[in-house]
Amino acid sequence: MNKDIATPARTKMILEKYGFSFKKSLGQNFLIDTNILKRIVDHAQLTSETGTIEVGPGIGALTEQLAKSSKKVVAFEIDQRLLPILEETLSPYSNVTIIHQDVLKADVKAIIEKEFQGVNDLMVVANLPYYVTTPIIMKLLEENLPIRGIVVMLQKEVADRIAAKPGSKDYGSLSIAVQYYTEPDTVMVVPKTVFVPQPNVDSAVIRLTRREVAPVKVRDEAFFFQVIKASFAHRRKTLLNNLTSQLPNGKEKKEAILAALNQAGIDPGRRGETLSIEEFGRLSDELYVYYH
Ligand code: SAM
Repeated sequence: MNKDIATPARTKMILEKYGFSFKKSLGQNFLIDTNILKRIVDHAQLTSETGTIEVGPGIGALTEQLAKSSKKVVAFEIDQRLLPILEETLSPYSNVTIIHQDVLKADVKAIIEKEFQGVNDLMVVANLPYYVTTPIIMKLLEENLPIRGIVVMLQKEVADRIAAKPGSKDYGSLSIAVQYYTEPDTVMVVPKTVFVPQPNVDSAVIRLTRREVAPVKVRDEAFFFQVIKASFAHRRKTLLNNLTSQLPNGKEKKEAILAALNQAGIDPGRRGETLSIEEFGRLSDELYVYYH
């Protein structure tokens, strides 16, 4: 008999034994295909020296594969009902620590320092709860954690937005935010049939490799992201319209905004979705002068 957790039969047995009912509100779609799990783990390039962080272990399907391939796994699970289940399913693995916390509220940096002392290679690997995919990814990136990268299952539509290039319909502030910190690659498109219950949307696995150096050097990161957010506020509007309507005192500063666009060599009639990350860098540095 296959002992892996992630088979339809074993998953069914575990869920029945504990009378577990899925909570849609927690994005609970468990993986029941060991082959897919092994491929996800392969994409993370773990070694016996790697410390792995997981978000949402569920009943431990992915955690088990991570435990076999890493030095240690620390997994954040919000749902208390899963704790006794994980205790049983992961009992063969002594290198797993489950932390009962909402990952969005957790002090991940402090937990890394405590749990991964002496570990120099850290990865995040997860089948994310889809209702909070973007906040989780952004939290992990913005907190500047000492990680090599992130390999996660998520909605294919979100993977497309993350990896989108300028000029495409999926390109937006999420693409730029993630590409500022990492190099994204969609490594797998995954059928709905490998989950229980099956999600309503298509899924993909994306690998985000952390950049050593940001693709643009800007004067003020927070202002750079503020300019990007303003530029995408209304996709049909021109850059000039979005910036004047979204930036503080934009209407009164129209002349200054126009001057900054000219100095950055960017046509004010273009739309945000056509600008590269470098162009946003130039634009925010020129605008900075008028805002500080
Ligand atoms: N890893 C398991 C698998 O692949 O079968 C389960 C993945 S399931 C898509 C997402 C998991 O994340 C669930 O176990 C859910 O309870 C948990 N979860 C949801 N929101 C969370 C949060 N904010 N912090 C930590 N875990 C969360």
